[in-house]
Amino acid sequence: MTAATPLSGYEHVYSGKVRELYAPLGPSGRPVDDRLLLVASDRISAYDWVLDTPIPDKGAVLTRLSLWWFDQLADIVPNHVVSTDVPEAVSGRAVVVRRLEMLKVEAIARAYLTGGGLEEYREKGSVCGIPLPEGLTDGSRLLDPVFTPTTKAPLGEHDLPMSPEQVEAEIGDDLAAEVSEVTRAILVRGNELAAERGILIADTKVEFGLAPGDRGARGGLVLADEVLTPDSSRFWPAAAWQPGRVQPSYDKQFVRDWLTSAESGWSRSSGEAPPPLPEQVVAETRAKYVEVFELLTGEAF
Ligand code: ATP
Ligand code: MG
Repeated sequence: MTAATPLSGYEHVYSGKVRELYAPLGPSGRPVDDRLLLVASDRISAYDWVLDTPIPDKGAVLTRLSLWWFDQLADIVPNHVVSTDVPEAVSGRAVVVRRLEMLKVEAIARAYLTGGGLEEYREKGSVCGIPLPEGLTDGSRLLDPVFTPTTKAPLGEHDLPMSPEQVEAEIGDDLAAEVSEVTRAILVRGNELAAERGILIADTKVEFGLAPGDRGARGGLVLADEVLTPDSSRFWPAAAWQPGRVQPSYDKQFVRDWLTSAESGWSRSSGEAPPPLPEQVVAETRAKYVEVFELLTGEAF
């Protein structure tokens, strides 16, 4: 992974798989403790690896799409955005946000069954402790979205499903109920808006933090990180939806398909880093990210 760009007036504090976090420096020259600059890079991850090949404009697409969604969701949950007034060097792919105490739960909701949720259903007939009707298949629509949280695993490790009891033990009963409700509401709203643009949102992952409360009381739940992007969600073209097979999607599908093809010469189980992506795969992936942004927002990228 390349080192984070130094930014004058900011101190680098963390590198995620895709984002860099900086703390703005206050008048004293020391970092302030209530704000962060969240910079989305063009890095792409797949199969728990951060790939060597960037996808041009991906950081800007994710940033603009998240900002658009934060607005669409503002009546459901407050978000961390403070301003888009950011240094020139990261213009268009960074936001100043409230620095939150992040909950150690990846909040996932599923409206359609696929991926890890489908695997669990095939084994147990349920997902994260939620029993589902019989006869569901890859791509089946669920009557109501289900909340299927996972742990936040460190880089290189796989997130693990969490039972409702584990979430309650981690963040408390009240907050667990609120996170479940808000996560599902985000997916429902997301699907309402996406449906008008011919897109289904099969599932999504969001992260929440707590705003510092007054006098030690816990602050309210705030939506952080990114929301309803092709990195955090499975977007399917509605016209091609056909349960019983793998659905075509607007996300890292090209990258995953190529990595697992014979052409890449890479094996998921090898434990070795994936090879660089061919130009064609980069171009197709960039085009998909831009396409889904334009479809959803109705704006030109
Ligand atoms: P990980 O944190 O496990 O590396 P990731 O690789 O998906 O996850 P990125 O999206 O690349 O992470 O980096 C963003 C990081 O910033 C995440 O750790 C996320 O929890 C954190 N984050 C996002 N918004 C805020 C916020 N408002 N306050 C504090 N931390 C935040
Ligand atoms: Mg993230």
